[in-house]
Amino acid sequence: MLTVENVRKVFGAATVLGGVDLAIRPGEVVSVLGTSGSGKSTLIRCINGLERLDGGRITVDGFDVSKPKELAEARKRSGTVFQLFNLYPHMTAVENVMLAPVEVLKRPRREAEAKAREILASVGLAPRADAYPAQLSGGQRQRVGLARALAMEPRYLLLDEVTSALDPEMTAEVLAILAELAKTGTTMLFVTHEIEFARRISDRIVFLDAGRLLVDLPAAEFFSPAGGLANPRIAQFLSKMH
Ligand code: ATP
Ligand code: MG
Repeated sequence: MLTVENVRKVFGAATVLGGVDLAIRPGEVVSVLGTSGSGKSTLIRCINGLERLDGGRITVDGFDVSKPKELAEARKRSGTVFQLFNLYPHMTAVENVMLAPVEVLKRPRREAEAKAREILASVGLAPRADAYPAQLSGGQRQRVGLARALAMEPRYLLLDEVTSALDPEMTAEVLAILAELAKTGTTMLFVTHEIEFARRISDRIVFLDAGRLLVDLPAAEFFSPAGGLANPRIAQFLSKMH
């Protein structure tokens, strides 16, 4: 279980997260929607331990990300993919994917490489495994980013707008893989502007508005007139997205 309890984050005078509560159980796919600046990326960065909390608590399978001694265990359990690919340009796809298993998990190189090739194949990149990032398309690079996160066998996959830098065709490639991962029971916290896709793959949808979680609803209910749409902020948000 990944739990976010009454989390607060301030930058200067701005309260970016104003007491957020969220729980994600193993196997669940939870999408986070919200306007630009509502705090979605900050929430992901807090879960990762990349930001210090100004209040509240985040635990990943019981490990508290605010406790230096527990952060490494928490991080082992969650893998994050960001909007921009952050691949090492001087390493091939397979080298990017095997890096953390070798350096962090101390896996033997040969074993890590075999596994990395397997994962790259699972995201449709077997033929491009030895290419450098600069030789790959945006969609292919993002699939390497996904493979790199999966190589650490995370219990929780955190995805922050992983398709927003991609054109529609590349977006479709990446979403198809995420749909497959969702179907096979990967637990995901999915920050996205792909509303239709979120509706299809999510168990729950939460809506962040100015650092507050306005609703946390089953996906079907989120889009129903008596559910999420009954909230004027959400109705306004959805009407602008269509
Ligand atoms: P988007 O949809 O555009 O990605 P978001 O919901 O991910 O937006 P965040 O990136 O979490 O939004 O930012 C929330 C607010 O916090 C914004 O007003 C942003 O300017 C501010 N913010 C984020 N990081 C910092 C920082 N390091 N220092 C100061 N302010 C920050
Ligand atoms: Mg963001």
